[in-house]
Amino acid sequence: MSGRTPLSAAERFWSHVVQGPTPTDCWIWTGAVGDDGYGRFWLPQPDGGQRAMRPQRWLYEHLTGTALTPSTLLLHACDVPLCVHVDADLSVSHLAPGTHRGNMLERVQRGRHRNASTALRTISFPRSERVRLSRELREAFRDHGWDGDAVRACKTGITATTPTLW
Ligand SMILES: [Zn+2]
Repeated sequence: MSGRTPLSAAERFWSHVVQGPTPTDCWIWTGAVGDDGYGRFWLPQPDGGQRAMRPQRWLYEHLTGTALTPSTLLLHACDVPLCVHVDADLSVSHLAPGTHRGNMLERVQRGRHRNASTALRTISFPRSERVRLSRELREAFRDHGWDGDAVRACKTGITATTPTLW
């Protein structure tokens, strides 16, 4: 292994992503998950330290060449916090920059991507529940690859024993 070029940020990024088989599927982040239920992508810094970013924000900036300001949110249309399916075309992308969720959803809904139309809002689950679901999903995908049922379970939060929390 000595003498090999270290993996680039992009190579490391994609090594942590499991993509669904169709163009409208989620792309699930299987790297680190923070205590808010969202992914963390660690990036080496010039000073030798590391900085954590949400992976979807990193991919957005990587694909578009546009830096997101701290006040610009990157919002999930699919309601899967670990999804990093970013595309410059908003009719395909599961994520869009914005400051208001309603505006973004309206734009995305005009597109063809509506496989999330029946999704309940995992994102609005209590934080502890969202973290638990995200970590379960991360581990399932990391260990077993793509699992459409797991995505649906995450979106709906279903199991027969899940208490209704709202
Ligand atoms: Zn998604």
